[in-house]
Amino acid sequence: DNKVRGILIGRMQPIHKGHIQVIKKILEEVDEIIIGIGSAQLSHELKDPFTAGERVVMVTQALAEENIDPGRFYIIPMEDINFNAIWTAHVKMMTPPFSIVYSGNPLVKQLFEEEGYTVKNPPLYDRLHLSGSEVRRRMLAGENWQELVSDSTIEVMEEIRGVERLKNLSVKEISDL
Ligand code: NAD
Repeated sequence: DNKVRGILIGRMQPIHKGHIQVIKKILEEVDEIIIGIGSAQLSHELKDPFTAGERVVMVTQALAEENIDPGRFYIIPMEDINFNAIWTAHVKMMTPPFSIVYSGNPLVKQLFEEEGYTVKNPPLYDRLHLSGSEVRRRMLAGENWQELVSDSTIEVMEEIRGVERLKNLSVKEISDL
């Protein structure tokens, strides 16, 4: 197996057009990309509203919409573990072999660099608007979040009633106020 593989780990809450552009960019450099769905155990929280399974569907369909060859990517949910020093081993255990790590996250970079991996900083595309937190903020504010994500992500969001879920999660009980 002499394929060059890169890995990109993100929470994908939800996948947005920035992730998609960076995935396409990485696919220009490697044979295959591993997309790690980070913090897989989390869902139904304001910062992490969608389940790992829902995120797998959103990522799969967004890449299909871009006509990206399904033979060139793996989507693998990855739970957090409480031990940063052994997290890279955990990631390695869960994924096909890879040699390049793409991340802008300082902790992720630090941990993989210490293990001797090549770590690359992917270019950021319109980070001001293209971020998961901005998508979630717009969902709650009733603003245009749809323009930040793929059409297929809008459809999945409707199926799972994602915006309604997020709004319900943001409601405080009277006793909490
Ligand atoms: P994220 O979703 O914020 O970003 C993922 C990647 O997507 C970024 O590195 C960036 O390269 C890219 N990206 C995002 N917006 C972009 C844009 N507009 N243009 C181009 N690229 C863009 O995810 P993250 O927080 O970096 O994810 C790291 C995951 O790893 C988290 O789930 C975290 O919990 C996990 N982690 C766990 C441990 C542990 O369990 N001990 C340790 C380290 C990291």
